[in-house]
Amino acid sequence: MDVVVVGSVNADLVVKVERRPAPGETVMGSDLDTFPGGKGANQAVAAARLGADVALLARTGTDQYGTRLVAGLAAEGVSVEHVVESEGASGVALITVDADGDNSIIVSPGANARLTPADVAAAADLLGGAAVVSLMLEIPLETVTAAARAARRAVLNASPPRPLPRELLALADPLVVNEHEAAFLLGSEGDPAGMARALLALGPRSVVITLGAEGAVVAESSDAARPVHVDGSPDRVSSGDLPDHASLGPRGASSDSASSDLASGARGPSGRADGVVVTVVPSPVVDAVDTTGAGDAFTGALAWRLALGDTLPEAAALAVKVGAAAVRREGAQSSYPRMEEL
Ligand code: ATP
Repeated sequence: MDVVVVGSVNADLVVKVERRPAPGETVMGSDLDTFPGGKGANQAVAAARLGADVALLARTGTDQYGTRLVAGLAAEGVSVEHVVESEGASGVALITVDADGDNSIIVSPGANARLTPADVAAAADLLGGAAVVSLMLEIPLETVTAAARAARRAVLNASPPRPLPRELLALADPLVVNEHEAAFLLGSEGDPAGMARALLALGPRSVVITLGAEGAVVAESSDAARPVHVDGSPDRVSSGDLPDHASLGPRGASSDSASSDLASGARGPSGRADGVVVTVVPSPVVDAVDTTGAGDAFTGALAWRLALGDTLPEAAALAVKVGAAAVRREGAQSSYPRMEEL
């Protein structure tokens, strides 16, 4: 396998409403639409559409959704041998979308909450044999951590945002977050390059922050980085050129600690002195129709390219194209591109 995703599978139940109900109120809505979702399933489908050999380790329920969700994944070419049926409800997201396009979402984890470290242990050979294990936070944290431990390389999309155990953070290569999730982990906001450096100082092996229409920013230690030409000519930003974002680091993290923890004395491809290389990867300009699941498309594509041996900036350069393609169509999985569309 190129990629094993350990993560969530949900049925997304969507109703359009004129306006979302106030507490105690009932409003009439459209017919119910049911879509396949869940961050784990989304990542797996994104990678499979691009041509990856991808397997999913997950749990679905014995309700009406479980069998359909698994069949849908198999039809996308995802290996579902390790999707375990578990007594009870499947993961479900209850989504209302109002006339302005704003949504409210309730996620009922169902079987996703029953994916345990024992499931990871039972699939140890699968995980250890994969070039990359891709993770997100819609399953129990101890399961995410067990999977990261068993992985040769763990890509961790820290979404939805939760405080992360230090061990898990240290295994992430890269930690993938959007700007809100980055601010959550840091406890403060800042400019993307500064936030990426501050996140790297928290311990992950590398960091990617996705920036919506702006693309993504990558931070890695100059030990890990090697010179690349990134498609689309991103700016290679020397951390020496950036303002000091020491104040962004929570719990006392600072650019100084970054330089001592990370490759002190080493110089990056362009001769950085503090051991951190930040690369900005712009996204193609597209007409965005629906951004649902763009982050999952990005992460699935990134994991696949890393499995094939790309450097992190190279992988991000493909992933921004996949994310941009995904926002051009409605839905999550239904919007994901095939390689030839890129
Ligand atoms: P979501 O929660 O909607 O799934 P996210 O907040 O996790 O997404 P974003 O940073 O919004 O993640 O998007 C991920 C990637 O998708 C971006 O890095 C970018 O490549 C692409 N993307 C998202 N929105 C746009 C846009 N409006 N135009 C072009 N590309 C976009």
